[in-house]
Amino acid sequence: MSEKPKLALYWASSCGGCEIAVLGLHEKILNVAEAFDIVFWPCVMDFKYADVEAMDDDSIDVCLFNGAIRNDENARLAHLLRRKSKVMVAFGSCASGGSMPGLANFTDRDAMFDWIYHKSPTTDNPDGIVPMKHTDVPEGDLELPGFWHTVKTLAQVVPVDYFLPGCPPEASSIEMAVNAILTGQLPPPGSVIGPDVTVCDECPREKHEKKIKRFYRPYEIIPDPDTCLLEQGLFCAGIATRSGCGARCPQVGMGCRGCYGPNEGVVDHGAKILTGIASVLDAQTPEEVDAILDTLPDPAGYFYRFHLPDSLLRRRARANGEKIVAPASEAAGEPA
Ligand code: SF4
Ligand code: SF4
Ligand code: SF4
Repeated sequence: MSEKPKLALYWASSCGGCEIAVLGLHEKILNVAEAFDIVFWPCVMDFKYADVEAMDDDSIDVCLFNGAIRNDENARLAHLLRRKSKVMVAFGSCASGGSMPGLANFTDRDAMFDWIYHKSPTTDNPDGIVPMKHTDVPEGDLELPGFWHTVKTLAQVVPVDYFLPGCPPEASSIEMAVNAILTGQLPPPGSVIGPDVTVCDECPREKHEKKIKRFYRPYEIIPDPDTCLLEQGLFCAGIATRSGCGARCPQVGMGCRGCYGPNEGVVDHGAKILTGIASVLDAQTPEEVDAILDTLPDPAGYFYRFHLPDSLLRRRARANGEKIVAPASEAAGEPA
């Protein structure tokens, strides 16, 4: 019988990038394969859910769970893997903060289905069919996972031991987390695995006093290669974002978008970025503030790109004030 610690990897509502990031370890993936007995990784090998159900509770040493929770299947696997795993790691920004799938919380399931299956210009759906949880087909009952109104983080559905943010986490962050797990040198439960510094702290660009008269889109200017991007009017969330990535984006001329999330003690990442940005506006009157912010398209997307579901806002209410009634399985965070 294997003495190696058992490792599971799973993707819920995700783009697949976090899985690719694990493969991005390149030859070091062999160290992972050598150090761990991989017992579940459906993206890479042919495991079935029944294989996991047959395992003893707490028999998986570590589960790296990426992706947000937005349907019954995501929730079912979150509960199943939580039960089977000693240590549950929210891997990547989607699992940690909701990230891209979480932007759907600016709308709701009915509005999304209406656009996707009825109104979008490329839709050809004369019978107005939308995905149903149960559909009668000649072969019997076709069942799809129930689709939730509200995208949730992993920790909003099951207890999480550690968080490894990033969209996706950098290979160096994954390597650090794997080493910490193998050597038992993990931070206190509930922590983010990684340094508690900001992207600005790791950014090599020269910093001066910041006074912004307007924002520019990246295609509108060629920034000075050595000076802080925010000082040049390019949006950068590095002032209020945890690093660990080595300030990867500003180093290549792109402002940080905030994927590593907030630093310790910050309750609402979007509000923290907003505060940081507000502090550098060169404006004396509310009208001047409005004029500068008018040059920043999609502010909600900029401030809450990675952390809307775990923000204080969590989701948008319906425009007409109507209450969103979640399906019972979603309200309970449990699979139906
Ligand atoms: S965190 Fe980023 S890379 Fe990972 S699944 Fe989500 S969107 Fe994809
Ligand atoms: S470019 Fe961004 S990360 Fe670098 S110093 Fe300026 S605000 Fe900070
Ligand atoms: S610079 Fe910002 S957006 Fe880019 S990888 Fe680092 S934390 Fe993520």
